[in-house]
Amino acid sequence: MDAQALQIDPRLRSHLLLATLSLAIFVSTVFVVVAYRIASDLGVNSELKAAEINVALLSAQTDLANSESELESLLAPSGHYIEELQVKENIGVLVRNDTDFVVFSSGVSQSTIEAVTALLDEETTGSGLIELEGETYLWAAIKSHHNKQNYSLWVQETSSLDTLLHYIATRLTVTSFLTFWVAVWGALILSGIITKRIEKHNEALAYMASHDYLTDLPSRRYVFEQMSAHIEKARGADDCSHCGALLLLDLDQFKEINDTLGHSYGDEILKKISRRWRDALPSSHILARTGGDEFVVWTANLKTDNAAKIAAPLIEACERPFEVSGMLLNVDVSIGAAYFPKDGDTIEELMKNADIAMYHAKRKRSRLEMYAAADNPYTEIRVRLAGEVTQALSEEQFVLHYQPKVHLQTCQVTGAEALVRWNHPREGLIYPGAFIELIEHSDYIHAFSRYVLSHAIQQIQKWRDQGLEVSVAVNLSPYNLLDRSMTAFIREQLDHYGVTPEMLEIELTETATMIDIQTTQAVFKSFRELGVKLSLDDFGVGMSSLSYIKNLELDCIKLDRSFVLNMLSDPCDKAIVQTMLDLCANLGYQAVAEGVETQELADLLTNLGCAYGQGYFFAKPMPADQFVRFMQDTPKRRSA
Ligand code: C2E
Ligand code: CA
Ligand code: CA
Repeated sequence: MDAQALQIDPRLRSHLLLATLSLAIFVSTVFVVVAYRIASDLGVNSELKAAEINVALLSAQTDLANSESELESLLAPSGHYIEELQVKENIGVLVRNDTDFVVFSSGVSQSTIEAVTALLDEETTGSGLIELEGETYLWAAIKSHHNKQNYSLWVQETSSLDTLLHYIATRLTVTSFLTFWVAVWGALILSGIITKRIEKHNEALAYMASHDYLTDLPSRRYVFEQMSAHIEKARGADDCSHCGALLLLDLDQFKEINDTLGHSYGDEILKKISRRWRDALPSSHILARTGGDEFVVWTANLKTDNAAKIAAPLIEACERPFEVSGMLLNVDVSIGAAYFPKDGDTIEELMKNADIAMYHAKRKRSRLEMYAAADNPYTEIRVRLAGEVTQALSEEQFVLHYQPKVHLQTCQVTGAEALVRWNHPREGLIYPGAFIELIEHSDYIHAFSRYVLSHAIQQIQKWRDQGLEVSVAVNLSPYNLLDRSMTAFIREQLDHYGVTPEMLEIELTETATMIDIQTTQAVFKSFRELGVKLSLDDFGVGMSSLSYIKNLELDCIKLDRSFVLNMLSDPCDKAIVQTMLDLCANLGYQAVAEGVETQELADLLTNLGCAYGQGYFFAKPMPADQFVRFMQDTPKRRSA
């Protein structure tokens, strides 16, 4: 399998090279300019120093001369000569009438000397540079110590730059060329190293993005990229050379392992199962982990293989238990399969349909199901709804309807059961059958149940404010028993709304076989200590009925409506109900019959000794405001 999923920018190296070359040119230029500036500053400085010495020497010599001829003879040995107001070769002397003003010049024209002397006055001493018509001249001036009238000025064209260029330009060029060359090589090597590093880093990132950290299997992103590339390629082809199959694998009861044994056990199982599956599949099939305990297998160019053939070794791999920290754990898998392009020609459609098939495999406990277009439309809704739970909770799309619980003989309302509905902005009112299971198997279950509890408790308070004292029963999922802070949450909500605990009843479905009795007992004890009422729901349909009844301290048992509904026509169901009622009476539990749809049923139940019931005969579940009207319209129900 090709692990490369992220593109590495091919222009990176050339960009890097260009950047380092530009840097090299810049550094060389800076080097040349700085070196040239330093050298020329040094040259000009030493020239000025020399001129200062020259003018000092010549000034001393002119001091000694008493006449022009004497000055001439004094200057002669140094190669200088005097010509009044004349400048020849490299020396000229200008003697002003009123003062002794001597100008020495080195190869400078008379007009220049005049211009220079015009710029300086007789008081200016020292040395410096002067710009005249684009040329730089150097001057040095001194006043004699002995004869203050004697002012000497030395003017010369600067030659340091020429000399400098002559002496160092070639060397500088060679050095800068060498610097540049070294820099180029340095840049090449450096860019090579950097590009390599970046490529390595990029590769690691690409691997991380395309692989799952826990199992080292390709990730959702990777498999989707492969699928979309295949789908793109297959577009327009009408033969089956581009057929494919997507298998969605979901571990059964994995949530329980995580919740009861801890995440480290869950992680270990995921790693082990991935390894087994990878070994069981041919390399042409992509096995990817797409979420918690959800995996997919994608296979392209499916010719002779079919999904069942692909799934068989995966199912077989789960038949041996997994050993985690010395414990042997059995993990089952449910697989749903969808074919490309028959069951969908987009990733979304294939995923959705494979999920529907997987859901059916879970329900039927058949391990593998192929997608069939005629599958339950509820299942499709379920798949669409799965991603919308968080939003529904935050936007309060879940609403509670209330169904009265009545005394069968008097029709007195003794309480209400809160039943949730999803007021979906697109789908309308959705009943719990379509989404409760989906929520129960997700991590939203705790937030969801807290939402229901909080709204139900708030409703008790609202009704009380309207003069109605109605206790409310809330259905909890067995998974909620694993929420350690549930009791504290209920207490806090009761306090917040000022509701007494006995006004709240908790119904727990008896089919909660997945949670061990000890846990249930412990949580029920804490609920009981809190003071809320406890009911066992759907009694008769689960497997652990008797152990639950024996070990849990309950207030009420609700007989499942599947027995109640058929009591009139099925003597067997009638016998079962009778037995359940006897059991409740002997153990001292209040029995409530569910699914009371007719007067006849209500009468029969009363005759069998059942005091309470719930059902369409009395009322269907209804919104809270309607429940108030229901109570007001039938005042006898309350007083009876
Ligand atoms: P359940 O707790 O057994 O609730 C009773 C169900 O039977 C309700 O269905 C109610 O509408 C229906 N029912 C009541 N009287 C009759 C009758 O005379 N005949 C017939 N045929 N049905 C009757 P609903 O509201 O669709 O709820 C279905 C299940 O969803 C509930 O069964 C309960 O297990 C679950 N559920 C509802 N609300 C919640 C909730 O807030 N949290 C949890 N965890 N589960 C909930
Ligand atoms: Ca219930
Ligand atoms: Ca029930």
